[in-house]
Amino acid sequence: MQLDKVVVTGVAGFIGSHLAEALLGRGVSVVGVDRRRAEEDLVAAENLAGLLEQPGFHLVEGDLTELDLVPMIGEASTVFHLAGLPGVRPSWGDRFGEYLSANIAATQRVLEACVTTRLPRLVLASSSSVYGGSADRPLSEDDLPAPRSPYGVTKLAAERLALAYAARPDAPTSVVALRYFTVYGPRQRPDMAIGRILRAALTRDHLRLFGDGSQRRDFTYVDDAVAATIAAATAPAHGEALNVGGGRSWSMLEVLELAAEVTGLDVPLVREGRQLGDVEATDADLTRTRAVLGYQPSVSLPDGMSRQWQWIAAQHRLAIAASV
Ligand code: NAD
Repeated sequence: MQLDKVVVTGVAGFIGSHLAEALLGRGVSVVGVDRRRAEEDLVAAENLAGLLEQPGFHLVEGDLTELDLVPMIGEASTVFHLAGLPGVRPSWGDRFGEYLSANIAATQRVLEACVTTRLPRLVLASSSSVYGGSADRPLSEDDLPAPRSPYGVTKLAAERLALAYAARPDAPTSVVALRYFTVYGPRQRPDMAIGRILRAALTRDHLRLFGDGSQRRDFTYVDDAVAATIAAATAPAHGEALNVGGGRSWSMLEVLELAAEVTGLDVPLVREGRQLGDVEATDADLTRTRAVLGYQPSVSLPDGMSRQWQWIAAQHRLAIAASV
C-alpha cells in the first residue's frame, strides 16, 4: 500500500502532532483535523507550531461529530484516527457524555466515511486501558479485555466498532487498532505522570502521588509509538488489535528515582489515595506487534525521560524570558 496522502485526526494533540511531523518528514501529504484551535488553546498552538507552515500540510478545524468527513478523506490511502478524549480519572461522573461523543460517536462517523470513500486502511488509537491490568504477567492481545474505567470502556467500544466494520463481507477498509501503553516525550499531555513529575522537580510544586507508588506502567516513548503507527499503515493485516509498549514496566517509585537522577533535583511529593480506575500494572506483550509490524521499541525510559526533561527545561527558560 502506497503512503502518499493521509488524514491524521487529533492532529493538534500530543501523539497526532508528532505523527504528522514524522509523516511530512517522509514526504507524505497530511490533512490534519482537530477541534482545538491554535488561536484559543496554548497546548494546541504548541503542538501545531511545527506543522502549520509546512507545504504538505492542510489543517481542517472542526469536530468529527459534525464535519463533512467524506470530502476530507477524499482519495487518502490511510486515515490515522487518533482523535479522542483521553484520561481515566475525569471519565467518571458528569463528563461521560463527552467521552461517548469523542471516543465512540466520532469513531462511528469516521468509519462510515471510510466505507463511502472506500478507504484502504484505518489505523486507530486504542489503549492499554482496554485490558484492566494484571500484576503478574505481560498483557497479550488474546487476553479478555476488562476495562476498569469509563474511558477504557469507550476505547474498547471504539476498537470493537472498527473491527466490526472491518469484518463486514463488503469491507473496503482494513483496520489496525493500536493499544498504546502510556506514551510520553516532548509535548506530552500536561495531565500525564512523567511530565507532571519533571515539572514538579523544576517548579518545587508538590507532585500529587496517587497510591503508594507500587503501581507499574509500561511507558512508550512517542517516537516509538509513531514508528509503530506508521508501520501499521502498510502492514499485512485486515482487522487486528496490537499492543504498542516500551519494552518493560516501571513502578512509580522507580520513575521518581529516575526523575531525580535525570534532573539532579528532588521531586517534592504529597501522597494521595489511589484514584478510581487506576490499574495495578500495565506491561505489554509485544510478540504479535513484533511479528506484524516489525516493531521494536528503541528508546529506553532513562533516555526518553532525559529528552522530555530537556524540552520542559527549554520551555521553562522561554517562559521566563517572555515574562521579563
Ligand atoms: P490529546 O488529547 O493530546 O489529543 C487528542 C486530540 O483529539 C485533541 O487535540 C482533541 O482536540 C482531538 N479531538 C478529540 N475529540 C475530537 C473530535 N470529536 N473532533 C476533532 N478532534 C477531536 O491525546 P493524546 O495523548 O495525543 O492521545 C491520542 C490518542 O491516543 C487518543 O485517542 C487517546 O485515547 C489514545 N491514547 C493515548 C495514550 C497516551 O499515553 N497519550 C495512551 C493510550 C491511548
